[in-house]
Amino acid sequence: MSELNEPRQHPLRHPVARRQLLQAGTLALLLGAQHIARGASILAVRVWPSQDYTRVTIETDVPIVARQFLIPDPPRVAVDIEGLDMMPALRELVAKVKPDDPTIAGIRIGQNAPGVLRLVIDLRQAVNPQVFTLKPVAAYQHRLVLDLYPSVQIDPLAALIAERLREPSGATSAAGKVSPLPSGADPLGDLMAEQGQRAPGRSVAPPNMARNSPPRPADENTASSRTDRLIIVALDPGHGGEDPGAIGPGGTREKDVVLQIALLLKERINNQPNMRAYLTRDADFFVPLHVRVQKARRVQADLFVSLHADAFFTPNPQGASVFALSERGASSSSARWIADKENSADGVGGVNIKAKDAQVLKTLLDMSTTAQINDSLKLGSAMLGEIGSVGKLHKPRVEQAGFAVLKAPDIPSVLVETAFISNPDEEIRLNSPTYQVQLADALLRGILRYFAKNPPLARNRAV
Ligand SMILES: [Zn+2]
Repeated sequence: MSELNEPRQHPLRHPVARRQLLQAGTLALLLGAQHIARGASILAVRVWPSQDYTRVTIETDVPIVARQFLIPDPPRVAVDIEGLDMMPALRELVAKVKPDDPTIAGIRIGQNAPGVLRLVIDLRQAVNPQVFTLKPVAAYQHRLVLDLYPSVQIDPLAALIAERLREPSGATSAAGKVSPLPSGADPLGDLMAEQGQRAPGRSVAPPNMARNSPPRPADENTASSRTDRLIIVALDPGHGGEDPGAIGPGGTREKDVVLQIALLLKERINNQPNMRAYLTRDADFFVPLHVRVQKARRVQADLFVSLHADAFFTPNPQGASVFALSERGASSSSARWIADKENSADGVGGVNIKAKDAQVLKTLLDMSTTAQINDSLKLGSAMLGEIGSVGKLHKPRVEQAGFAVLKAPDIPSVLVETAFISNPDEEIRLNSPTYQVQLADALLRGILRYFAKNPPLARNRAV
């Protein structure tokens, strides 16, 4: 596991530290109004580094106001925060920057004026900073969020193909199945061209049926190897970063177990001939729901599989469920409830969406098609059948509701609630490496079964 994947200590899991801070806040109340006006108390500071962006969160008991300035040479962001005085929690922020943070080289903090702090964030690369505040939600109080997006964004499809090409040619996986790679002068270009220029109407053999022959040497650039299309499965581990998802009675966080399962499934998919998994997040950071959909579309994913763990108020409910999108209302009230719960992730995770963007987004996400839903239902039943062979099912049929994350109009998309994290037995299973492997194997079998009956069509979309 890389450092980015290391389980972080969640601030909410430190009730004592939190209580002390809250008590400090109460003390400020007793001191009188003039002190309250001057000072917010910091409840927690967090840094979430990732290749996509690095987020810094400062959580306070009252709202604070910030203004940022970008200084190009050397690149740094200065943030003036009103209503804050220097306090020990801020020194913690300095210490929380990881040495391998792709964006932040370091943070310096000084008192700029009475009641105004200046944060200077030294950068490793040019960024577009987004600074915004969030009102109290779930277990959080007021949050000031600094999102630092690299000015030069990585092209996810190019990165995916480059990753594939970095693998030693002819290398065999544990299963001995590796597809041949095109070996032209510009293999990356070839692969990308293949992705974009399939003759319409042609389909390719399902990946599990396609190649039983041993791997061919990379230099044997046969016609058939060129017509093998790379099938891309987008895996979407739910939640992440500021949004822990559901938390089990033993403290297991949904965002951690679904990432572990997604990484296992990725490995299995990548061991299939001509298949490649693409993760919407591969570490512990938050990805807004619409960005998950956009990411899958940018890599022209053939399938989208969102992984979650269910939770209820009582410990008894158990079993896995699989969901597809619905065009007309939810298939049951519980499906609607779960969709509402999963759709609320953006509020907890924290997104900076202006009203204008939100409208554009809604229009984009409302293009869902009947064909997508039909394919999603087929994929969902194939997966449900396989999950049922390794664990209990909550419902025997694929359910439907308006999940925001399933709205890619052109990609069959399902959301898997792998088990109930709120059920103590299932929480243990979700944490068990054995069960995680069984589940990943079952999910792969479901995906292969779907492709066996529904061969992926040739691409005719523009990259
Ligand atoms: Zn979830």
